[in-house]
Amino acid sequence: LLSCTDVRKTFGANVVLDNLSLDVAEHEVVALIGASGSGKSTLLRCVNLLTEIDDGVVRLDGEDITDPRVDPDLVRQKIGLVFQSYNLFPHMTVLDNITLAPVRVHKRPVAEARSQAMEWLSRVGLADKSGSYPDRLSGGQQQRVAIVRALVNSPRLLLLDEVTSALDPELVGEVLTMIRELKGEGMTMVLATHEMGFARQVADRVAFLDKGRVLEQGPPSQVLGDPAEARTRQFLARII
Ligand code: ATP
Ligand code: MG
Repeated sequence: LLSCTDVRKTFGANVVLDNLSLDVAEHEVVALIGASGSGKSTLLRCVNLLTEIDDGVVRLDGEDITDPRVDPDLVRQKIGLVFQSYNLFPHMTVLDNITLAPVRVHKRPVAEARSQAMEWLSRVGLADKSGSYPDRLSGGQQQRVAIVRALVNSPRLLLLDEVTSALDPELVGEVLTMIRELKGEGMTMVLATHEMGFARQVADRVAFLDKGRVLEQGPPSQVLGDPAEARTRQFLARII
């Protein structure tokens, strides 16, 4: 589904993505792990076209999305990205937050966008919050709304960047449950995380990023339990 080949990104002299290659199959969940600054967020932003790559190719369903002729808005309809801080608009209700982009950017009919938003909110148990403003919701609820906002475009791929790290520990569970449910429905996801327990539970494959490259990847039990590379072992020893 997604194929990143020799992706290179530099900020000045800082080589952040160093000819990184990563493939993600349909229905697959891939967890990106690695030290702070290893390039996880930058990779997700490049895939979502928020950051322009210097070299290499990113393909979605075989189409080169880094081609300058490609409309980024169309790509972002197919690739949802959710950040650590949920970035909901504080002056808009939950429902308006979710339907803003589909209606304004993608010119979808308001009624259709609203009914789809309500369907998703019901599925994640937040239908009663549709008229609420974000500050009336818990952090976990806000993050689930942010994920619904990405889902309402029916993306082919969902990118999740540390979606639980801003949450109080007791609120992490409800977001993880939602992600596990999405996995059960076959959603393809790439998620950057510092929580190895989460990676182990939800990921089909774990990719360890080191200095802008995928140093090793494989099933969670192997990469997290019995890593081949010394640097992966060092990283895991530091954080556990
Ligand atoms: P973390 O685990 O802390 O979230 P990360 O793996 O997501 O880290 P990135 O955010 O991708 O790491 O950052 C990789 C490197 O790119 C860092 O050295 C960072 O300083 C640099 N970087 C990221 N964005 C920019 C930018 N807009 N301008 C300059 N440097 C940047
Ligand atoms: Mg990051």
